[in-house]
Amino acid sequence: LVKARNVHKSFGDNEVLKGIDLDVMPGETVVILGPSGSGKSTFLRCINHLEAMNRGSIQVGNEQIGYELRGKHLRKLSARAIARQRRQIGMVFQQFNLYPHLTVLQNIIEAPVGIHGESRQAAEAYAMTLLQRVGLKEKADAYPRQLSGGQQQRVAIARALAIKPKLILFDEPTSALDPELVGEVLATMKDLAEQGLTMVVVTHEIGFAKEAADRVVFMDGGYIVEQGPPDEILVNPQHPRTRAFLSRVI
Ligand code: ATP
Ligand code: MG
Repeated sequence: LVKARNVHKSFGDNEVLKGIDLDVMPGETVVILGPSGSGKSTFLRCINHLEAMNRGSIQVGNEQIGYELRGKHLRKLSARAIARQRRQIGMVFQQFNLYPHLTVLQNIIEAPVGIHGESRQAAEAYAMTLLQRVGLKEKADAYPRQLSGGQQQRVAIARALAIKPKLILFDEPTSALDPELVGEVLATMKDLAEQGLTMVVVTHEIGFAKEAADRVVFMDGGYIVEQGPPDEILVNPQHPRTRAFLSRVI
């Protein structure tokens, strides 16, 4: 579903991604681990074109992110076309950024109704099934401030799912939460992984990687240093940098 090839990204002189190749199969959950500053967030942001890469290509489904093939040449897509591509990719951030003046239900249907032009009725019905999936059906009419951080993040996950994305990207979704709230969000994500959603998850939660990931990717210094099934990478890493990282976080 995702095919990234030789992705490079620099900020000024700072080359942050130095040639990332990554494939994600439909239904797969890929967890990206790596030290701070290794380029994990930047890579996720390149996948939905929140950052424009400098070199390389990323395909999601059969579309080239940010570009289209005209004859033999790649042409930069219009802002409008990029917005359309982005709407097929859900993203959940560390900060959940729910609209404080909207209820839970209104937050979830905002994009499907406002951007995708779905009927309010259909969007609300789907939003209720999503709230059920994240275990918050009874909170539909609550406002974000009335929810715990973990509940807000589960609403943010339901909101990301409301656009029926092909792919959902998570960037440290539990890092801003109090420790006792991390488990409920990870459990929700694990359910989604088991239901066959295609997910790319940047996290420091090794337990989640162990239980929910089909594949673990270790990034360091702008490269993918090693990748494989969790029971290989987490239990018996081959690369010294992976070993050093794991010995620090476990
Ligand atoms: P963390 O675990 O701390 O979130 P990360 O692996 O997600 O780290 P990135 O956020 O991708 O790392 O950042 C990689 C490097 O790119 C850092 O050196 C950072 O300072 C730099 N960087 C990221 N975004 C920008 C930006 N918009 N402008 C300039 N430099 C940036
Ligand atoms: Mg980051």
